[in-house]
Amino acid sequence: MQLHWHRRDLRLSDNRGLAATSEPTVGLFVFDQSVLDHGAPPRVAFMLDALDSLRDAYRDRGGELLCASGDPAMVVPELATSLDADAVSWCRDYSGLARERDAAVQQALIEADIDRNPVHDSVHHKPGAITTNDGDPYKVFTYFSKKWHKRDKRDPFEPPESDELVPREKVTGFLALDGSKPYERKNGENDNSHEGNNTEYKLHDSLPTLDDLGFETPDATVPPAGTEQARALLEDFCESDIYRYADRRDYPADDCTSRLSAHLKWGTIGIREVYRATVEARNAAETESESVFEFQDQLAWREFYTQVLWDRPDVVVKNYKQYANPINWREDEEALQAWKDGKTGYPIVDAGMRQLREEAYIHNRVRMIVASFLTKDLLLDWRHGYEWFCERLVDHDTANDNGGWQWAASTGTDAQPYFRIFNPMSQGERYDPDATYIKRYIPELEGVPAETIHSWHELDDGTRKMHAPDYPAPIVEHSERREDAITMFEMARGD
Ligand SMILES: Cc1cc2nc3c(=O)[nH]c(=O)nc-3n(C[C@H](O)[C@H](O)[C@H](O)COP(=O)(O)OP(=O)(O)OC[C@H]3O[C@@H](n4cnc5c(N)ncnc54)[C@H](O)[C@@H]3O)c2cc1C
Repeated sequence: MQLHWHRRDLRLSDNRGLAATSEPTVGLFVFDQSVLDHGAPPRVAFMLDALDSLRDAYRDRGGELLCASGDPAMVVPELATSLDADAVSWCRDYSGLARERDAAVQQALIEADIDRNPVHDSVHHKPGAITTNDGDPYKVFTYFSKKWHKRDKRDPFEPPESDELVPREKVTGFLALDGSKPYERKNGENDNSHEGNNTEYKLHDSLPTLDDLGFETPDATVPPAGTEQARALLEDFCESDIYRYADRRDYPADDCTSRLSAHLKWGTIGIREVYRATVEARNAAETESESVFEFQDQLAWREFYTQVLWDRPDVVVKNYKQYANPINWREDEEALQAWKDGKTGYPIVDAGMRQLREEAYIHNRVRMIVASFLTKDLLLDWRHGYEWFCERLVDHDTANDNGGWQWAASTGTDAQPYFRIFNPMSQGERYDPDATYIKRYIPELEGVPAETIHSWHELDDGTRKMHAPDYPAPIVEHSERREDAITMFEMARGD
């Protein structure tokens, strides 16, 4: 028997950890407080929904997904022992914290004399597999991407059949669960407890609620989770939007991107399944293959940033790129709050920040615009923006979020050069010419003509009040701040 410890692979199909064994399997998910401490309501809500679907998927096949709370370094070996499992499998997670946790679990399993089967699953090519000819990790995406596209990609893995799962009754029998009382272990009741760990755990009969886990109901509308939902998005996308992706992906009002980010973050769909659907879309309409390639390139970005985080776990708190001197970011609580509230007086920035509040999501082009605005117009440290995104995004993924922020702040790999600064007004005019996206999130600007919205920074206060009395004037002057940003970076460079 094998215990499969699910983490960011909340699915049965295209799951290498489940496919890698011929042993009958029991699923396990552990609510780990040290991970939940970094959680946020929209993400935890999405995760609970995904777990609900995963548990149903196990039960539909006669199997079981156990859900426990506690320190995985205690829970995993304890449950494996109670179930008499020969081995524990899991899909590797490449962030620094996850690697520390996995090393602790691995050690505890060694001590408990239980076999370990960690597998590589979440990206096509494991971090460290695509390197320069000298064997170094790439610092520039373009070269990484060229190699990434050329490499063969695996087909999706089949989900386990019913007879490859340990029957549910057998699992509950092993654990003496009668369906009415949770199974609890306290320190001292077993031989495998580890000094310094949280040595108490609990097995849940039913999934905990957000409230049980200490989270408020999210303010934002959280999309439904689960493999079926992810597949529906993928299918829809590959039927039509994938063919206009290259031309229209930068236009937020078009909504033509896949919206798979939260699913890829939680692994409700496997990367091989997503990729195969794109190959089928390309084969179905060969003339549009460039557009399909453009989408695949975004999947390559995801793998590039996974590799960056794996190679440099410190980027979570430190600049990737070294400047000669520290960057002299400003501190301005009021400006930061206006940015968070979507009240900067720059319509495309405010629309993005309000989309974040309403949907726990922002369109990619607008993420770049709001990140540039925070760092190059407000001159605030990218870490403030990263923290706010962590708190609010349903798809927050350490590697991608950090990569995106450091790119915009000119501190990352392949960074936007410090002197190339987004102009929030011309970005709005170019990518949302009719102001459809802006008006969707800023009701104060509803009846205002698009030309007026795009020249908001040039209007006098009287004209602004006449058009939209409740919408603010710009809180900073972009042309001035642009010069300040250039000076700030020149000082950091020591020019
Ligand atoms: C400041 C900033 C913060 C970001 N934070 C995150 C984050 O926390 N989580 C996240 O998944 N993406 C993040 N991104 C990347 C990108 O904005 C989102 O992946 C994308 O908007 C999600 O929408 P989608 O699924 O419709 O994307 P699509 O355009 O349909 O792309 C498909 C998939 O490719 C991946 N992808 C797309 N663009 C990128 C990119 N630039 N970098 C890495 N992977 C990418 C995602 O997994 C995405 O779901 C961030 C970008 C910026 C500029």
